[in-house]
Amino acid sequence: MKYKAFLIKYAEIGIKGKNRYVFEDALCERIAEKLAKVADGFEVIREQGRIRVNCPDVYDYDEAVEQMKTVFGVWEICPAYVIEDASWDSLTTGVGDYFEERYGNTPHTFKVEARRSDKSYPIQSPQICSDMGAYLLDRFSELKVDVHHPEILLYVEIRNMAYVYSESVKGLGGMPLGSSGRAMLLLSGGIDSPVAGYMVAKRGVTIDAVYFHAPPYTSERAKQKVVDLARLISVYTGPIKLHVVNFTDIQLAIIDKCPRDELTIIMRRYMMRIAEHFAYQNKCQALITGESIGQVASQTPQSLVATNAVCTLPVYRPVIAFDKQDIVDIAVKINTYETSIQPYEDCCTIFVAKHPVTKPYLDIIVRSEKKLTGTIEPLVEKAINEVEIIEVTDN
Ligand code: ATP
Ligand code: MG
Repeated sequence: MKYKAFLIKYAEIGIKGKNRYVFEDALCERIAEKLAKVADGFEVIREQGRIRVNCPDVYDYDEAVEQMKTVFGVWEICPAYVIEDASWDSLTTGVGDYFEERYGNTPHTFKVEARRSDKSYPIQSPQICSDMGAYLLDRFSELKVDVHHPEILLYVEIRNMAYVYSESVKGLGGMPLGSSGRAMLLLSGGIDSPVAGYMVAKRGVTIDAVYFHAPPYTSERAKQKVVDLARLISVYTGPIKLHVVNFTDIQLAIIDKCPRDELTIIMRRYMMRIAEHFAYQNKCQALITGESIGQVASQTPQSLVATNAVCTLPVYRPVIAFDKQDIVDIAVKINTYETSIQPYEDCCTIFVAKHPVTKPYLDIIVRSEKKLTGTIEPLVEKAINEVEIIEVTDN
């Protein structure tokens, strides 16, 4: 079957009303970007309540569908058969030919659903449904009508041309990228943070990222793993500006001056501060982490109080209430899992105490941190100034 168009349905277009076109335009743009990778000549057009894609003469159908399945905001992808001459005789023959090629003369129940966007078309929608139904019953002896639970729901849409479709491929849902601001993801090499970034991006938020490494205690390979993860999620999130921050001296200073069992919490507070610096610099409205209640000592509710206390921006923690397995399921689905489980050391784990505090008191942490005054400021400044920025795309 040669499909010359797709009708794209979206579920939710956020903050509706007058902003609606912002979402629809963003969705059109994202779809067009993805299809440009498949072939030249796709046309993506905003229509009432949906998006229409006109296809070039030559393109790879499977590849086009796969690309559209990575676009947030797409609810359903309906491959459509185009009948250029929508006059009644040509329309009925065309719809019959579509049906024959798609289903043959096999026993099925069906129903026709017609929509007439071209109001000058001489036949009204209910009439199109019943007359088209009669035509198909006549042409295919094995067909039966079932208006309540049809096996085949055949849509006929009449515009300047007619579009016929009866199949759909499920999209990702969510909201189009570029429709809901920007956030800075703290991206480690683990399972959780790539999933967290994906989930927030799915709500239309553009993502930047920051990764803290501690050479020579963490290897180039550990850094490469994070770049790989950023690349894997960029299939969905679009290009990511990854900030790689050398955290070694800060970490060593904390080890030197602060109680060992508070190391992780104090380190996490410095990560948040530096991430927030880059968030403001990139006009982000939030930070994102992969924290989940109780997963490790630094993610108890008390630890989260201590970490959160240094942030002035909201911190999005989309997996906060997820079980590990639920996070793993998403990681598998978005293809980050295999990379995340590669065994490369993380800067959080190398110096970590055997028995880290699990219920830190904020005032005690703040008091411990005071011991860093005079030492840590130039180190933070240096880490920020010497940031390495990697533009990550899925190309
Ligand atoms: P993940 O699977 O995302 O690595 P985790 O279970 O290892 O999470 P932690 O190491 O406690 O959890 O980190 C909690 C969150 O802090 C991470 O999800 C991530 O957002 C951020 N984070 C931790 N380490 C780093 C790092 N080296 N660089 C950037 N962000 C980090
Ligand atoms: Mg981690």
